[in-house]
Amino acid sequence: MLRSKLPHIGTTIFTVMSSLARELGAINLAQGFPDYDPPERLKELVNQHVAAGHNQYAHMAGVIELRQAIAAKLEASYARRVDAENEVTITLGATEAIFSAISALVHPGDEVILLDPSYDSYAPAVILAGGNPIHIPMRQPDFRIDWERVKDAVTPRLRMVMINTPHNPTGSIIRHEELNVLADILEPTNAFVLADEVYEHMVYDGAEHASILANDRLFERGIAVFSFGKSMHATGWRVGYAIAPPDITREIRRVHQFNTFSIAAPLQHAIADFLTETPEHNAGLHAFYQRKRDQFLAALEGSRFTWTPSEGTYFQLLDFSQIPRVSDVEFADRLIRDVKVASIPVSVFYAEQPRLSVVRFCFAKNDSTLEQAAERLRRM
Ligand code: GLN
Repeated sequence: MLRSKLPHIGTTIFTVMSSLARELGAINLAQGFPDYDPPERLKELVNQHVAAGHNQYAHMAGVIELRQAIAAKLEASYARRVDAENEVTITLGATEAIFSAISALVHPGDEVILLDPSYDSYAPAVILAGGNPIHIPMRQPDFRIDWERVKDAVTPRLRMVMINTPHNPTGSIIRHEELNVLADILEPTNAFVLADEVYEHMVYDGAEHASILANDRLFERGIAVFSFGKSMHATGWRVGYAIAPPDITREIRRVHQFNTFSIAAPLQHAIADFLTETPEHNAGLHAFYQRKRDQFLAALEGSRFTWTPSEGTYFQLLDFSQIPRVSDVEFADRLIRDVKVASIPVSVFYAEQPRLSVVRFCFAKNDSTLEQAAERLRRM
């Protein structure tokens, strides 16, 4: 008889909300994706590579030109020199990188620390590997990490700590000093650190992204995960990558080769060319998104929502506690039905759901979409 391996896991909230938004004709600020296209030149390069015959299996670890372009990009961003041959693996989006890394490194009975609210793919990946997710809630209301609690959760069975900065769904960021605290905590352990850094180029108000690649002690035991879906406005292409020292990369590839094997070849060639031709593309992203955040928030002036401007990601939390008290799940449901704006409740990202009065909105949208959504939100 059928016995589920994930009996407590339903359909991901992103699919639930996007389907409902389509059904109700709502503006979708729920699932995080832009309503604009990748750069024209990048689209042109994809067409060129399809026409040029790059249509068969790519190398299992990724097209070498792309891995080299990534190495150049990481050196420019984080002063970290990585070896394109042995430390870079192209994956099916960041989700596959995370899944393959957890499958490769976590053994049955191992503990993996997750900081709640945690992205919804993390815990299922740990459970399928036979590991035990150890959920530690972030502090409220600022959604920062309580490192004392992390330290107290270290046991001899700890195999991995997962961090995510800039943080989805809350928009908080980890600072360089905090990475040093984490490195101290992990010093006496054999644990890995898996860092989901897909929003690396979306940090605001002059802050700097603190990558584990810029921290020698964490990089030694680290896997950093990135995504071209985010940086190239192409979430549907599903191209991401994992950076890790050679011994860790070898293990990740053992799984990756039988999970997805290799990633769409023409997309990889196109992104490689685009990165080489336009190395300044990424540097413009934070200004591009900060303007969108500010425009969205300015348009919400006069509404009953309150907020702290997002520090990173393309998500903004809005606090609805001045609007009749309901749970965040009920509020998101009311919002999509009453004013037709889809959002994501935050409590669903917790093992133990707290009572929260914030919901998440994606501001990676055209100005007109943001204006129209804000106009509806002002009616709440
Ligand atoms: N990362 C996206 C978000 O947070 C969702 C991606 C997905 O639906 N798998 O909205």
